[in-house]
Amino acid sequence: MSRNNSIVSKALTLLCLTSIVVLTMGHAHPWLPSQTPKKLALKLSLNNQTLSLASSDFGLIIHKTPLAVFEPSSVNDIRDLIKYSNSLPMPFTIAERGPAHSTHGQTLTHDGVVLNMTRLGDSRNGSRIVVYDEYVDVGGEQLWIDVLRTTYKHGLTPFAWTDYMYVSVGGTLSNAGINGRMFRFGPQISNVLELDVVTGKGDLIKCSPVKNSELFYAVLGGLGQFGVITRARIPLGPAPTTAMLDCMQVKRLSLVYNDFSALTKDQEHLISFHQRNDTSAPDFVSGYVLVVNQAPFDLSFYPTHFQPIISSLVTKYGIIYTIELTKYYDNNSQTHMKEEVASLLKGLNYIPIFAFEKDQSYEEYQNRLHTTELVAISKGFWNVPHPWLNLLIPRSRISDFNEGVLKNIILKQNISVGTPLFYPTNRNK
Ligand SMILES: Cc1cc2nc3c(=O)[nH]c(=O)nc-3n(C[C@H](O)[C@H](O)[C@H](O)COP(=O)(O)OP(=O)(O)OC[C@H]3O[C@@H](n4cnc5c(N)ncnc54)[C@H](O)[C@@H]3O)c2cc1C
Repeated sequence: MSRNNSIVSKALTLLCLTSIVVLTMGHAHPWLPSQTPKKLALKLSLNNQTLSLASSDFGLIIHKTPLAVFEPSSVNDIRDLIKYSNSLPMPFTIAERGPAHSTHGQTLTHDGVVLNMTRLGDSRNGSRIVVYDEYVDVGGEQLWIDVLRTTYKHGLTPFAWTDYMYVSVGGTLSNAGINGRMFRFGPQISNVLELDVVTGKGDLIKCSPVKNSELFYAVLGGLGQFGVITRARIPLGPAPTTAMLDCMQVKRLSLVYNDFSALTKDQEHLISFHQRNDTSAPDFVSGYVLVVNQAPFDLSFYPTHFQPIISSLVTKYGIIYTIELTKYYDNNSQTHMKEEVASLLKGLNYIPIFAFEKDQSYEEYQNRLHTTELVAISKGFWNVPHPWLNLLIPRSRISDFNEGVLKNIILKQNISVGTPLFYPTNRNK
């Protein structure tokens, strides 16, 4: 909202200044939080600790202190805030903020109000995650981990995910929401049936591909500039379930490569199963890169006695690549898993014998990054700046990226990059 609002605010400011000059020869002053009507003022926080918490994000690169933080307890509170701002001679900027895993100040404002969406989840007006047979209605402030847990109790699951589950529905739908399932289902923004949005005028509007579709497509991937997502309707399908929900339902495989072109060729092969409607198609395909001198690597997936061997491969080759592959199963398909895995691995060119597998419950698998997160927090890696870059690279240039960026810049110049991830996908998704 902030960029949009600032354009509107400039236009309104000009208009209002003109009329004030003509009528009273007075001045329009910027908004002061102390002037706010009591009903709204009760939800505005001005204390230093709250302002300080709202002045940075996960990136820790950009810092902006807002004039106030608004803590809504209902959707109507959000409407009232926006309408109040619009009623002022100089409307203030409003920046929506979920859990603030953004990395470049997207949730910050220095001349306005941070709208703390997470407070909407405190609402006592019943649950903000309601499961139906084919979809779930979710508050924009809700975390995907809670969507997973709630829908899974019903044996159901959304189709599209992020790898990390402690991000919010409104936050990822304002961006894209991607992971290794994108080649099958597209990003999360392609998996939404309907939205409730509070617009820049303070109206609450229901929108979908057939109703107010311009608003719907503007808000999805709209970087929070076209309205506040207060509810999203997300389609559901059957989750991989076994007799007991906490039994194993996911086969995870990790394949290790020292040749980048073999890796991309194999990723393309793996995502082609789905295009051919082959029932052995994997449910998830991604890859990551281990670069020498970038330790500590998270090698916890691999058997303990293989971890030093993989580290020595990284030292030997400078860069090692992996494919992460997942196949879901249930009571019926469990018995065919061996053949299905063999069919997936047939003809792949990973380093011989460097194929590892592990079975996990669906919930544990979906939340797999949480363990890594806890380790990173305990080692202080959460409290350092996190520059972050997402790129869409066409197939025709991916080997140039490996040579030019991974080998010639990152490896040669010993630049610290964390763990680069690769998600192969189809352009039509
Ligand atoms: C450790 C980690 C792992 C990640 N893994 C993935 C991944 O696997 N896949 C992936 O796609 N992304 C991933 N991300 C990026 C993440 O999806 C983005 O940071 C995204 O912005 C969501 O973060 P958030 O929910 O914390 O939203 P915030 O950072 O709070 O907000 C993000 C943007 O959305 C706007 N916004 C927030 N709530 C609303 C709302 N209700 N209505 C309208 N606008 C709103 C904000 O103004 C801001 O512009 C990861 C981030 C981290 C830190």
